[in-house]
Amino acid sequence: MKITNVKVEKLQLELHKPFKIALGVIEHVDTMLVKVETDEGVYGIGEGAPMEFVTGDSIDHIKIVTEMLGKLIIGHDPLNMEKLHNIMDNAIARNTGAKAAIDIALYDIKGKVMGAPLYKVLGGNSNKFDTDITIGIATPSEMAKEAKERVDQGFKILKIKAGLNPEEDIEAVRLIRDSVGKNIRLRMDANQGWSVSEAVKVMKAVQEYGVEAVEQPVPYWDIEGMALIREKVDIMVMADESVFSPIDAIRVVRKNAADVINIKLMKSGGLYRGEQINAISEAAHIKCMVGCMLESKVAITAGASLVAAKKNITEADMDSFLYTKDPGIKGGLTIENGVIILPETPGLGIDIDF
Ligand code: MG
Repeated sequence: MKITNVKVEKLQLELHKPFKIALGVIEHVDTMLVKVETDEGVYGIGEGAPMEFVTGDSIDHIKIVTEMLGKLIIGHDPLNMEKLHNIMDNAIARNTGAKAAIDIALYDIKGKVMGAPLYKVLGGNSNKFDTDITIGIATPSEMAKEAKERVDQGFKILKIKAGLNPEEDIEAVRLIRDSVGKNIRLRMDANQGWSVSEAVKVMKAVQEYGVEAVEQPVPYWDIEGMALIREKVDIMVMADESVFSPIDAIRVVRKNAADVINIKLMKSGGLYRGEQINAISEAAHIKCMVGCMLESKVAITAGASLVAAKKNITEADMDSFLYTKDPGIKGGLTIENGVIILPETPGLGIDIDF
């Protein structure tokens, strides 16, 4: 089988409301779909989603680089995953959004060739799991109101965005715990917004509200700071922006800088390196979560398949497709009461033709 063509198409997603985190406010979302075609009529669909302040990828950037990488993989067997990733990595450093787009499409092809859903291609530990839902930054009382609404919709795990104002972060958690009761799992994400001392202060304060883990308390480059926080507080520290690649994961392992690593396909350049990050983490006795950027159901179904496939990936933050109006993508994962269920159809189980 040979790759014959790689097509890209921008997809505009409309947010239900603006989304605020410590790194900025997101008003609308552009993402990009890719279609990798083969000489046997099988094709794969992938997605590259930008998050400028995390990955450095803009949508136009992802489109140009995907087109460039697309030309390099034409003529190759789409099942030669190792070879194709090396071609992409040798052609251009970073650019993980474009690499993820192609990677997801290649796995979609692999699933269709095997006649197996992607979660089975990747390991097949399970076909469903709980996802959290994110509460963006607003006033503490607005956040508590939204938290209650999400719990009423069936979500059992909340991820509370923080990192702009330590006092308000603590107040938001207090009010949220008060409004949702004691059986809802809470974690926080500071998106690099605190100093080490602020992180220690907030994390000690929110311990009484049963916060399980805090994601990326300090800037991505401060691996030593993350390790220091772990020594001082009992809440788990999760590395997100600090870990893009398997190499970053090793650095975190060596420095004892995290209890959990958050894999995102748009940081790792897709499932192939994502599996490697999970393998490193598992061997180091670190659990993983899979998170997402503002992605459509295409990339979310790929990420969700990785969660379902692996025993060591115990947490999921696969909620972004719920923030946007439905762009009419048929198939892929389904969600019911905060539980994501993967389809049994081959590959992603999504059929879009363009
Ligand atoms: Mg995060």
